[in-house]
Amino acid sequence: MAKAFASQADLEVKKVTWTKLSENAYAYTAEGDPNSGVIIGDDGVLIVDTTATPAMAQDLIAKIRSVTDKPIKYVVLSHYHAVRVLGVAGYEERINVIASDVTRGMIVERGQQDMESEIQRFPRLFQARETIPGLTWPTLTFHGEMTLWLGSREVRIIHAGRGHTRGDTVAWLPKERVLFSGDLVEYGATPYCGDAHYTDWPGTLDRIEALGATAIVPGRGDPLATPDQIRKGLGGTRGFLQDLFGIAREGVAAGHDLKTVYDRALREMRPKYGHWVIFEHCMPFDVSRAYDEAKGIDNPRIWTAERDIEMWRALAN
Ligand SMILES: [Zn+2]
Repeated sequence: MAKAFASQADLEVKKVTWTKLSENAYAYTAEGDPNSGVIIGDDGVLIVDTTATPAMAQDLIAKIRSVTDKPIKYVVLSHYHAVRVLGVAGYEERINVIASDVTRGMIVERGQQDMESEIQRFPRLFQARETIPGLTWPTLTFHGEMTLWLGSREVRIIHAGRGHTRGDTVAWLPKERVLFSGDLVEYGATPYCGDAHYTDWPGTLDRIEALGATAIVPGRGDPLATPDQIRKGLGGTRGFLQDLFGIAREGVAAGHDLKTVYDRALREMRPKYGHWVIFEHCMPFDVSRAYDEAKGIDNPRIWTAERDIEMWRALAN
């Protein structure tokens, strides 16, 4: 029998923290599980990333209701991954679901496969998965960048460039200087790179760093609310990507096979990054994609439930 995915044995329930970052911005974080962000405008509420299931969304709604009774009007999808988007059906029926045009293209191209694959990999993250009615479809897409006015509150929604996926979107409050980065930035959590563009990701980080945020809600991990935390979040993410892609490029140039590159990456990266959550879970996917990109495959190959198992058998045993 195949060894279970590292994450299938990860059953410990995480503690949720609800942090106020500015007068109208909040972080919903959970010790390295996927985060959400909340922006409260004059006339309604915007959520960045929905939680994984409609049942799980109820806890986020309860946190929002502890600070406002304004209607929840918008959801922004930072990217297409199931664990970020499938909670949408837990909100008001006529909620607007905003995504970059590129993210919508990824849902068309690989949303179904990703949903099946993510649920298999990480069952704990999909509590009450029977409440998921199916894929989440954006109702409003944009190209490049859009601005949403929640009354007098300006929210810029920016397709920042390729990185964690090719559709990565951030939400930015220019007046409050609060940034919701999605999985482009992680803090104390291992970046998942199965759909990544390693060559482009650091440049995308430079672009969002140039916004000059004083607080960042990362994709996973605690909010970054001091200059030192922001430097560590951005620098740590960048360092991980560069270390791993460097190993993959050297391995491909030397003609090594995937397993050899994987073993070296684990050996060399574990001392530096092994304490980050989901390290063991991410590495097989991250090395597989790094190896492909180093070989010149531009569009990440689609992960399916079957491909996951094949890859895990080949690398992790
Ligand atoms: Zn993701």
